[in-house]
Amino acid sequence: MSRADTATDIASASLREQAAALAATKISSVELVQEQLRRIDTQAQLGAFLHVAAEPALAQARAADAARAGGDNRALLGLPIAHKDVFVTRGMPSTAGSKMLAGYLSPFDATVVQRLGACGMVTLGKTNMDEFAMGSSNENSAYGAVRNPWDHAAIPGGSSGGSAAAVAARLVAAATGTDTGGSIRQPAAMCGVTGIKPTYGLCSRYGMIAFASSLDQAGPIAQTAWDCAALLQQMAGFDSADATSVQREIPRYAEALDAPLPGADAARPLAGLRLGLPREWFADGLAGEVEQAVRAALAELERLGATLLDIGLPRTELAIPAYYIVAPAEASSNLARFDGVRYGHRAENYRDLAEMYAASRAEGFGPEVKRRILMGAYVLSHGYYDAYYLQAQKIRRLIADDFLAAFQQCDLIAGPVSPTVAWNLGEKADPLANYLADIYTLPASLAGLPGMSIPVGFGQGAHASRPVGLQLIGPHFGEQRLLHAAHQFQRATDWHARAPQP
Ligand code: GLN
Repeated sequence: MSRADTATDIASASLREQAAALAATKISSVELVQEQLRRIDTQAQLGAFLHVAAEPALAQARAADAARAGGDNRALLGLPIAHKDVFVTRGMPSTAGSKMLAGYLSPFDATVVQRLGACGMVTLGKTNMDEFAMGSSNENSAYGAVRNPWDHAAIPGGSSGGSAAAVAARLVAAATGTDTGGSIRQPAAMCGVTGIKPTYGLCSRYGMIAFASSLDQAGPIAQTAWDCAALLQQMAGFDSADATSVQREIPRYAEALDAPLPGADAARPLAGLRLGLPREWFADGLAGEVEQAVRAALAELERLGATLLDIGLPRTELAIPAYYIVAPAEASSNLARFDGVRYGHRAENYRDLAEMYAASRAEGFGPEVKRRILMGAYVLSHGYYDAYYLQAQKIRRLIADDFLAAFQQCDLIAGPVSPTVAWNLGEKADPLANYLADIYTLPASLAGLPGMSIPVGFGQGAHASRPVGLQLIGPHFGEQRLLHAAHQFQRATDWHARAPQP
């Protein structure tokens, strides 16, 4: 095999395989980065990237190769990654998918970006997203939609649609995402890749352009659970710059993934694991083709030793109204900073200060962001606060209580990520139709719980090339348990290894 063929193979491989290839000097970081950049270029029609940092990436790759030659053998040294454009990055624009921040250059790196850079990873660029992470189809980006690499007529999911599409199309083995109400899990599901939203507070939010601060969490999107574990290892951890960052020891996530659960054996490595299936999630509204793929995955997990249990999450239907009050309320407050004064877009024509604010915001924000700001300002206003915001907060607590009760009976919760496979670009014009599709991801977000999506199959008929994801939800700080179950599933199956034709 020529070195060029090797580069092509390695560029489509998982992060773990890429790391092994670099360690064995089958490829250099520079060669790997060149190949990924070539793919990003030839698949530009996907719209996955908003900014490609070719020269800086090659410079980082050269430095990584030099460090490796000098004996540096850090696990992630020289491996390419892309960051969702919601993370601020020094030396390249950070827009959060908004015209408001067109060309914005941050003076610092988000903590997550800084940590991944500090372990030697090479940043290829920034991925497309719904404006300010508001959306579930990536169609709310001010810079155009992203196409699903499996089916170019379909959405990739959102809001981390660019990251999920980039990983699915093998433009890069790993990318960061953020999940406020499903934005890692849902695009991962729709693009047939693996993603984890950690427990709220595990990864620093410092330098993540804020949407809804009590919900926003960063997490990795990659081909496999093992890769997610390796990335989470670097991303997680206390940061004094984020007041909601949790101080606790970070486990070695990737270390025990291969081992069977205590008391289990290699044939049935998940023996003893109790998986709760929320009956409200396998009910009306769940597409048959999604249910079939999810049920087949559950049968596989059962074969691996897990026990399936019927559980209830009775407040599920309240998650959409509660989330679509709390999240816009926080967004309206967070987005007040975009006033045309300090940074961001400023209107050219205005007569006085008030008009400058109004015109800058009217021009800079897209329709969905404006809708959320209006909703948020409304539910927080005097006279409505008690009726809406306070009620939503109470419901949020009840939803969290449902999960606490469920985790008395089971170790993990399993179900669908999305009620349907990816829909067509342009298909859901009504905002409410988009909100309703978040039904299975919002509950864990409201409760601050960790959740994963792993690829488990495809739809049927006209949807035969549209991926389906399985959602696994753990108790607070149950990332290890989640990653372990997902990794064991991926050892026994190959859905995660499938890639679309370029
Ligand atoms: N789809 C949800 C929304 O539009 C969640 C987005 C997210 O997790 N960032 O708010």
